[in-house]
Amino acid sequence: EIQLRPFFNQLIAGYRRIIQEKNLSLILEGPNDVVFQTKMELFYPVIKNLIENAIHYSIPNGKILIHYTNQNGLLIAIQDFGIGISQSDLERIFERFYRVDKARTRNTGGSGIGLAIVKDYVERLGGTIQVESHLGIGTTFTIHLPNLEGTH
Ligand code: ATP
Ligand code: MG
Repeated sequence: EIQLRPFFNQLIAGYRRIIQEKNLSLILEGPNDVVFQTKMELFYPVIKNLIENAIHYSIPNGKILIHYTNQNGLLIAIQDFGIGISQSDLERIFERFYRVDKARTRNTGGSGIGLAIVKDYVERLGGTIQVESHLGIGTTFTIHLPNLEGTH
């Protein structure tokens, strides 16, 4: 069983330095008392990848909203106001090794596998993932996960 707020706070604490360097405001929105049963070995990399992307593809002085709520399971939305993704690229971002604008992103060190893992793990947890993005405006990933009864 995961307590969501401390889980997020601890994860975010690990990115304090880059958040400071880019002067990002990271806002956690959600009730204090949300608990959730899931498989941590799948849940953790999902959230970690999405938060890392939000930080990575944010522009300096940007804002990141992490919203969570109990809603027939768990609903999490991770919204950034960063570089955004064009509608044509949006169809491909969950493919393995797909990266938008390879020349630009080569020196940022990613391999383009993060979102493929995210989608695979979300599905293994019986959940869904949706993305909405607009180039130059920002991106929101929304995941919906069922409670897995009897998981510790
Ligand atoms: P890594 O394997 O290290 O995560 P990556 O971040 O490049 O590398 P993915 O996380 O799979 O790979 O993302 C695929 C591509 O989708 C990225 O290269 C980037 O172009 C785009 N992308 C992902 N998240 C965002 C975001 N929040 N804002 C803008 N573009 C994004
Ligand atoms: Mg990534």
